[in-house]
Amino acid sequence: MAHDPLAFLEDDLRQLKEQGIYRPLRVLESPQGPRAVIDGKKVINLSSNNYLGLATHPKLKEAMVEYTEKDGVGSGAVRTIIGTMTIHLELERRLAEFKHTEAVLVFQSGFTCNSGVIPAIIGKGDVAISDELNHASIIDGCRLSRADIKVFPHKDMAGLRKVLEECKPKYRRMLVITDGVFSMDGDIGELPGIVKLCKEFGAISYVDDAHSSGVLGKNGRGSVDHFGLHGQVDVQVGTLSKAVGVLGGYVAGSANLINWLIQRGRPFLFSTSHPPGVAAACIAAVDILENEPELIEKLWENARYFKKGLNDLGFNTSISETPITPVIIGEGAKAMKFSDRLFEEGVFAQGIGFPTVAQEKSRVRTIVTATHTRGDLDEALAIFAKVGREMGIIK
Ligand SMILES: *Cc1c(COP(=O)(O)O)cnc(C)c1O
Repeated sequence: MAHDPLAFLEDDLRQLKEQGIYRPLRVLESPQGPRAVIDGKKVINLSSNNYLGLATHPKLKEAMVEYTEKDGVGSGAVRTIIGTMTIHLELERRLAEFKHTEAVLVFQSGFTCNSGVIPAIIGKGDVAISDELNHASIIDGCRLSRADIKVFPHKDMAGLRKVLEECKPKYRRMLVITDGVFSMDGDIGELPGIVKLCKEFGAISYVDDAHSSGVLGKNGRGSVDHFGLHGQVDVQVGTLSKAVGVLGGYVAGSANLINWLIQRGRPFLFSTSHPPGVAAACIAAVDILENEPELIEKLWENARYFKKGLNDLGFNTSISETPITPVIIGEGAKAMKFSDRLFEEGVFAQGIGFPTVAQEKSRVRTIVTATHTRGDLDEALAIFAKVGREMGIIK
């Protein structure tokens, strides 16, 4: 091409490659299972958010096929025109019942939930107060809102109090946001402390339960249930794309909140709703969460077993307290090499470095699921031990 105005992208890409942080896509060539074929190699899969195995569950597949046959593959419009189908409302009713809130609204994804909900409730003259390790979609939602943004140190309630004290006289509304479970460290958000401070300062509380939906609390109801805080957190966001196994995000809260989001949640208003099969599969997932709690028990049993196994070998799993277990390596290139060697030996665990986490806290992140067998986990631990010793990470 004679004149390519996008030529600068080639330089940008080269720079990423030179820094060793260019990530090619891995390709899954099998269903998203505890063992999977990734880039042509059969491995133990420790990188999936399919915590409960619902992505391949027969009941969900059946529901999706049935509703696809019945109502088609697409909804044909945004929710606010004619893309609201009976099955969408049925899912929202079921989720509201499940979450013990007045109402629920489903968005296309957890990401669009955060990018839509935050700007719908705060704007210029307000402030978003966000944990420093909150997810990218929360950061984007805060930016889109045009409210000022303040960050408090991770889970530090004294730090949050200080920010609230400073902001209280200056702003109209204050919104305090935390992840329910933090996706890189697997630790649980400080929800009781946040609720207490929000009450004291008259701030709005907001939790993003993406990694807690279907994982934490009774039947996987999330972090509000885990801490016994029903009715005390103003905005709860969850995802239908991780443990629930399908696709989507939802907001649970008061009827006023939901009615307002129907008028002002931009992704809800301006982007097409889910195919009916997606909503039907999500309902089948809620049925399973309500009726088969043993799946969640198995998930936690596996998580405890694997974490203990890693610790006994001498690996540093940091502050994890959920099925997300990082293995801290330190330097970025070493974490990537560890991940690559694990892969060669038959385990897929994603290496994660800067800018996702601090450079000196580069890591390999593992997620065990309810569908891993003891044999899978023992084999994975043996491979971690072998590669860890070979690279001098453990003795
Ligand atoms: C994964 C994730 C999201 C995005 O959810 P999707 O449904 O995949 O769009 C939002 N917030 C957090 C904390 C997440 O981990």
